[in-house]
Amino acid sequence: MDNYQILIEKARALHGEICPGVVLGTKMSIVAMEELGMDPMKKNKDLIVYVEVDRCMTDAIQAITGCTLGHRTLKYKDYGKFIATFVDMITGKAIKVSARDDISSSPPGFWTSIEKSIKQNENNRSTPNKDDMRLTVEKLSKMPVKELLKVEEVDVEIPENDIPGFPHYISTCSICGEHVIDRKEFKIGGKIICESCANKL
Ligand SMILES: [Zn+2]
Ligand SMILES: [Zn+2]
Repeated sequence: MDNYQILIEKARALHGEICPGVVLGTKMSIVAMEELGMDPMKKNKDLIVYVEVDRCMTDAIQAITGCTLGHRTLKYKDYGKFIATFVDMITGKAIKVSARDDISSSPPGFWTSIEKSIKQNENNRSTPNKDDMRLTVEKLSKMPVKELLKVEEVDVEIPENDIPGFPHYISTCSICGEHVIDRKEFKIGGKIICESCANKL
């Protein structure tokens, strides 16, 4: 088994299947870690990943990098984009990886498969056709990284409150009385207010 096969099996173990998003997340993790001079076969404690979608891709990234929400090394931005940014906390180098538009001449590419699944859902066929899925997975697995992914170096500043480690600060919401850590509260009209209460104001 080559490294890609070992890593995609790791992703399958967490996600439960190998689907187009898992292939994408696996390839994203490999290319980004290599760009950062890290070994994708080993967990790197200096890695932090920002993901922009709560879909299959993200499970593959978690399985391969070992970055998790609980360790504060996986950050979720609710943008609905198949994009992830991998940051080396020591050097500050950051690599943004996104799914390229299908440039291959022989569909289905990644976006073609997503669009097809959405159309099937619209027609009330809630699960994508298994043969279509298998074909897409095969195609994406073989597709050169350059065709599948856009890889770019970007500037990322990790906010002080996002850095992993034991919490240093706690406050109490003046409306609901619930505790808030890591300075995630707001100060509105001189009062400490948590985000859920602030959203209802
Ligand atoms: Zn999936
Ligand atoms: Zn509150």
